[in-house]
Amino acid sequence: MGVHIPSPFCPACSTADESLDHLFLHCTTTNFVMAYLRAKWSKFPDLNRCRNIEELVVGGSDQTWSEEDKIKYVVMIRAFLWIIWCNRNAVRFQGKIKTAPILGSKVLLTSSLWLRTRSKLHREDICCFCFAVCFASSLLLLYILASR
Ligand SMILES: [Zn+2]
Repeated sequence: MGVHIPSPFCPACSTADESLDHLFLHCTTTNFVMAYLRAKWSKFPDLNRCRNIEELVVGGSDQTWSEEDKIKYVVMIRAFLWIIWCNRNAVRFQGKIKTAPILGSKVLLTSSLWLRTRSKLHREDICCFCFAVCFASSLLLLYILASR
């Protein structure tokens, strides 16, 4: 008895054994999403410099960053982890595969929503960030409409 696991391989890339470090740091899909996010916000971490998930999570504690950037990082990295995890489950259990730009757009959209509803940042402080998020979410909406 127990849970049937059809494959020990990562459901997102099928090239390595599934583990948390692989999923969040080394997976090809994750790296494409990270590259997409770095293109939108250059302070997003370079996964090649993170040896484990803990380093990824605390990566935004750079003392040279403004308080606003630290908050953005904390929110974005959590949204990133959440979206990557949801994607893993969607592929594993529903066979739904999404591209890195779609996943990256979902991270930006989720981050924006969390920043607007949970942070004490003033709106002007995050307007540039929100512009990128709005642009990305518009692309996501166009993609969804075009794929119907
Ligand atoms: Zn993988």
